[in-house]
Amino acid sequence: MKTSVCVVGGGPAGLVLGLLLARQGVTVTVLEKHPDFLRDFRGDTVHPSTLDMLDEVGLGDRMAALPGRRVGGLHATFDDGTYQVADFTRLPAPHNYVYFVPQWDFLEMLAAEAAKLPTFTLLRATTVTGLLRDASGAVAGVRAAGPEGEMEIESSLTVACDGRDSLVRQELGLRPVDYATPMDVLWFRISRGPSDGDGLAMRIGSGGLMLAIDRGDYYQCAYLIAKGGYDEIRAAGLDALREQVARRQPILADRVGELATWDDVKLLTVKLDRLERWHVPGALLIGDAAHAMSPIGGVGINLAVQDAAATARMLGPKLAAGQPVTETDLAAVQRRRWLPTVVTQNIQRAAQRRIVDPLLHATGRIEAPAPIRLLRRFPALQALPARLAGIGVRPEHVR
Ligand SMILES: Cc1cc2nc3c(=O)[nH]c(=O)nc-3n(C[C@H](O)[C@H](O)[C@H](O)COP(=O)(O)OP(=O)(O)OC[C@H]3O[C@@H](n4cnc5c(N)ncnc54)[C@H](O)[C@@H]3O)c2cc1C
Repeated sequence: MKTSVCVVGGGPAGLVLGLLLARQGVTVTVLEKHPDFLRDFRGDTVHPSTLDMLDEVGLGDRMAALPGRRVGGLHATFDDGTYQVADFTRLPAPHNYVYFVPQWDFLEMLAAEAAKLPTFTLLRATTVTGLLRDASGAVAGVRAAGPEGEMEIESSLTVACDGRDSLVRQELGLRPVDYATPMDVLWFRISRGPSDGDGLAMRIGSGGLMLAIDRGDYYQCAYLIAKGGYDEIRAAGLDALREQVARRQPILADRVGELATWDDVKLLTVKLDRLERWHVPGALLIGDAAHAMSPIGGVGINLAVQDAAATARMLGPKLAAGQPVTETDLAAVQRRRWLPTVVTQNIQRAAQRRIVDPLLHATGRIEAPAPIRLLRRFPALQALPARLAGIGVRPEHVR
C-alpha cells in the first residue's frame, strides 16, 4: 500500500494532523493500534486555543454538540478554604472556558469528519511494528499488523504521533531527555449524584491532591500519589484508600465503597521528557512522542493538537503539490514548536517541584501557599494562569 503521509497513532496529534492534511488534498493514512478510542486515561481538557483552531476548521458546532462541560474557573480547596486559581472567563470570548469532553467523543468526532475527505484513511486495530527504509537509510514508511495480517505502507513522510512510549522513536534509536516527576496518578470512577457540584473539584490535603472531573453521571477521579508510592498504598489496603478519598472529597464519602477491588483503580505513571531532535530523513515526531507532558495544567492534548496544526500548515502545501519534504522543512516544524514546548514543560517542572512535591510529603493541616492567597486578593491576576494554560505560548492557527 502507498500513501503520501503515514501517521502512526490516532490520538489527538495523529487525528488532527490527518484531518488537516486531508483537507489540503494530501493522501494520508492514520494507523491506530486500538479498535476504538474508548480508553478513559487520556485526559479530558480542550483549551481555548484548540477550540479557536477548531472553529477555524469549521468544527465549532460539532465540538459544541459533544457531551462536554464548560468550566470557567479552576478551584482548589485547602484546609483553610477554597480558592479560585485560574479564571478563564477573563480570556477573550467566545472560548473563555475550558471544555471538559471525554476524549473518545472528541477523537470519534475528528475521525468522522476526516472520513468525509476522499484522501483520508484511518486503519483501526492496526499496530505499527517497524519502519521501512530506502536505499539511503531514510524512513520510507512502516510495517504494521492489522486485522488483514501483516502489511507494508510506503510513504514519502512518516509522522510519529504514537505517544510517550513511541515505537517509532524506539526504532529510530532516539532517546528523550527524561525530567524527574514527583508523582504518579491513581485513576478511578465514582458515581455522581444530580445535586453534586459540577465541573471540576480539586482538593488538596495532607499527603495528596485529588481532582474529580465531572463526567455527567460519574466523577473521573485523579488521585495523586508520590512517585513509586503505589506498592505502599496497596499494602495499606483498599479501606485506607477509600478513607483518604472520602477525606479529600467528603461528598464522595457515601460512595467510596464503589471502589470494590484494586481492578477499579488504575495506576498511571507520569512522565515528562523531550527529544532534542524531532526528525530524521523521512520522519517527524510530534505530540507526546517528541515531548511527554505531565498532567499539570491539563495541557498535553492541546500541545499535541497545536503541533499537528503547525505541521499541517507548514508541510501541507508541499505535500499537496507532490514535492519532497526535506529535513530542513522538518527542522522548521521543530523550531516553530520548540519554544511553546520548553516553556510549558518548564512551568510544569516548576509546579511539580514547588507545589506538588511539597504537598505530597506534607503532614498535618495544609493551608493555601502565598501565591494562591495572592490570587484571591487580586482576582485580576487569575487571568495569568488561565492564559498560560488556556492559550499558552504561540497558539497555532489554520489557514
Ligand atoms: C495521568 C495523566 C493525565 C493526563 N490528563 C490530561 C488532561 O486532562 N488534559 C490534557 O490535555 N492532557 C493530559 N495528559 C497528557 C495527555 O494525555 C497527552 O499529552 C496527550 O494525550 C498527547 O497526545 P498524543 O496524540 O501525542 O499521544 P497519545 O494521546 O498518547 O496518542 C497516541 C496514540 O498512538 C497509538 N499508538 C501507540 N503506539 C502505536 C503503534 N505502534 N501503532 C499504532 N498506534 C499506536 C495509541 O493507541 C494512541 O491512540 C495527561 C497525562 C497523564 C499521564
